[in-house]
Amino acid sequence: MDLIRLVDQPGRRLARAVQDKPGARQILNVFDAVFNWGRACSIWPMTFGLACCAIEMMCTGASRYDLDRFGIIFRATPRQADVMIVAGTVCVKMAPVLRRLYDEMPEPRYVLSMGNCANTGGRFYHDAYSVVKGVDRIVPVDIYVPGCPPRPEALLHGLLELQKKIRSESMADEFAAGALRSHED
Ligand code: SF4
Repeated sequence: MDLIRLVDQPGRRLARAVQDKPGARQILNVFDAVFNWGRACSIWPMTFGLACCAIEMMCTGASRYDLDRFGIIFRATPRQADVMIVAGTVCVKMAPVLRRLYDEMPEPRYVLSMGNCANTGGRFYHDAYSVVKGVDRIVPVDIYVPGCPPRPEALLHGLLELQKKIRSESMADEFAAGALRSHED
């Protein structure tokens, strides 16, 4: 991951520079293949346990499920993480902290919402004034894992789905979307 991070921004700048050149699509496809392979095979989630779902997240990180074989290694700081696993109930008081930690993560970054509480506020606290009705109201969520709590296999499945999503990312599409946005502005 560190190596990919090191070359990520220069690579993106280079890709942006060649995006209008002849054969750019082929060049960007090569870039995508290399960067996406590196990112998908070295997902570093930040530990962010908020409630009972975090116990299942810890189980998933234990030796039985051997996340290391997928290159998934938990980090204790947002500066070294590219995935935030929101495991548990998000309280209103915790929301600004969660957002700040997300903002401290380097791009590209992803969010996996684990469990019904993080997804929608949960069945126990849905009417509570103190609970956020879904973490996607605070940060953009890439993968939702349902359950109360989800089993480790479900979280693992969510992480593998995230790998698939990362592998399908395209710089050319990102540039096109950016161009579209700036055109709309
Ligand atoms: S979804 Fe269920 S297990 Fe997870 S934090 Fe909410 S109440 Fe706890």
